[in-house]
Amino acid sequence: MKCIFCDIDTEAKSVEHIVSESFGNKDYVMQKGKVCDTCNGRFSKFEDTALTNSVFIMERARFGVVTKKGNNAKGKVNNLTIAGDKEFRPSYLTVKGLTLDNFEDFDHLTQTGHIVIASFDKSEVATSKLVLKIGLESIYVSQRTLFKKYVFKELKDFLTSKTNNDWPFLTTDFEIAKFCSVPRFSDKFRLKKNHCDLKYLEVDEQTLLFKFKYGAIPITLNLINRNLDWVKKTLAQDEKAILYPEHFRNKLVKR
Ligand SMILES: [Zn+2]
Repeated sequence: MKCIFCDIDTEAKSVEHIVSESFGNKDYVMQKGKVCDTCNGRFSKFEDTALTNSVFIMERARFGVVTKKGNNAKGKVNNLTIAGDKEFRPSYLTVKGLTLDNFEDFDHLTQTGHIVIASFDKSEVATSKLVLKIGLESIYVSQRTLFKKYVFKELKDFLTSKTNNDWPFLTTDFEIAKFCSVPRFSDKFRLKKNHCDLKYLEVDEQTLLFKFKYGAIPITLNLINRNLDWVKKTLAQDEKAILYPEHFRNKLVKR
């Protein structure tokens, strides 16, 4: 069997979870042998960073997910240490290291305010890789016709470390046209129960958008290439959308 990422013949020993187990997914997996152990090993590195050093840790802690190793979710974003409840109760989370800089509209009188936590600083690349990986695997398993229609060379080269240029993504819930669900039937239902939503939209030959939403965090990217045309269109219509990694924002301004 050939690995769908590096096209090398493989006899993989490990089971590849399409959506990381540490998001709470147990059942949505790749057919054995479709992702080789080398690629799987590569993926676990960026997966760990994306899961524990980005805003995803807040959501995982908030939902009380059980990690792959059976523990509560723990992570670190900048100066903050975040942990889910040891008994996995949802909405019981601990945040350590808060300073006044983490608060917006802090009212000294009532001692209340909104907590602001950096989203993807230092984990931007890891997050883009994780979402690209989830995108290609879910399309392979649930939308085979779509998988066969495109080549995904840029994506594969990026995920197998043949190229290293960053891949742009947007945090936005805005849809330029109606997205369709990638998983079907019971897969879709079970993933929704785990707060995961996976959708796609075919825009043109060069643009196959994939949206991964976990809890309140929506991430959209193009599975075909790093082109920024769809980003410009979306940003023009959704002022809340934010483009990552940050240096792409400067590129857009300069043009
Ligand atoms: Zn491989």
